Amino acid sequence: MSILAVMEQRGGAWNRMSFETLAAAQHFAQELNTTASAAVLGDAAEPLAKELGSKQLEKVYAVEHPLLKDYTPEGYSLALRQLVEQTKPALALFPHTYQVRDFIPKLATSLGKVAVSDVVSHRIDNGEIVFVRQLFQGKVNADVRFTGDGPHFASLQAGAFRADQLAEGSAPVEKFAPQIAAGDLRTKPLELFRESQRAVDLGAAEIIVSVGRGIKEADNIPIVQKLAEALGAELAASRPICDAGWLPMERQVGSSGQTVAPKMYMAIGISGAIQHLVGMKGSRVVVAINKDANAPIFEIADYGIVGDLFQIVPELVEAIQKAK
Ligand SMILES: Cc1cc2nc3c(=O)[nH]c(=O)nc-3n(C[C@H](O)[C@H](O)[C@H](O)COP(=O)(O)OP(=O)(O)OC[C@H]3O[C@@H](n4cnc5c(N)ncnc54)[C@H](O)[C@@H]3O)c2cc1C
Repeated sequence: MSILAVMEQRGGAWNRMSFETLAAAQHFAQELNTTASAAVLGDAAEPLAKELGSKQLEKVYAVEHPLLKDYTPEGYSLALRQLVEQTKPALALFPHTYQVRDFIPKLATSLGKVAVSDVVSHRIDNGEIVFVRQLFQGKVNADVRFTGDGPHFASLQAGAFRADQLAEGSAPVEKFAPQIAAGDLRTKPLELFRESQRAVDLGAAEIIVSVGRGIKEADNIPIVQKLAEALGAELAASRPICDAGWLPMERQVGSSGQTVAPKMYMAIGISGAIQHLVGMKGSRVVVAINKDANAPIFEIADYGIVGDLFQIVPELVEAIQKAK
């Protein structure tokens, strides 16, 4: 049962989540006593594939075709279908990005298979992999296992697996040239859309300072903003803060906002509702400041401070500035 990690790139730049998928592929391969390979698609995928040559993988496939220059669901599913048919992995893993959500059902059904999306964790049961995915806004965890022969397909949620646990090694790079004709593509890519000029990518932030309703009013936001500046962090928020317009929507973390997995997430005056937790629980270290010792956020916090944020946050800022 070999495993294939399908990496995502755009314009020659990696999507960071791909490395979590790659680490998961290595990890599962070790647990299942098999091998992991990787694939990257594009019109000039080889240089990126060579970067992966330094990882502990059986092989890296550079899936190259001029029609893969821009993403299209038809081009990607057709190319990957041919790769999967030739290399016969038992399991193909993908990062759960918007792009993957777009084409993975098409790819899986073209082979008469299913795709399990949005996997948050896994376990091995009798030599078989069992995936866990959340239902009903994270209220229920469901175990999912594949039946029948592979290839099976799964996409992994951001932060579910750790990219810093990637094993180094060396892997040969092999070119794979799929057959794609211009007539196969029914989608014509236009210019990429960004919601606004100042859209922030919280997913790329290493430290996030996130503020909740405990901040009481918009005029108090600068108190936490100073902490974010002192730490070189991005400022984020729970939904009520964005709903009230105290911070822009693009800074909302949670089930209806962004999913983040920074090295450190500070939740300040945030209760820890499930809709918030699903967006940040993959963070490496969670620090919570809340005056209610029973707030659910403390259940997932690595460090918790029970107290008044209006007293604690300015003291923290002062201490950080002194330490600098
Ligand atoms: C369909 C749906 C989607 C949703 N999507 C999201 C989402 O994407 N993201 C999201 O965040 N929420 C989302 N929600 C809302 C979610 O259910 C919660 O209502 C929300 O997360 C609560 O935000 P909060 O923790 O800031 O506020 P509250 O729950 O009101 O918590 C405020 C916290 O601040 C603490 N506090 C008060 N004063 C102080 C002080 N002086 N010092 C320290 N602590 C203090 C309190 O003890 C409390 O724990 C969604 C809800 C639904 C139904």
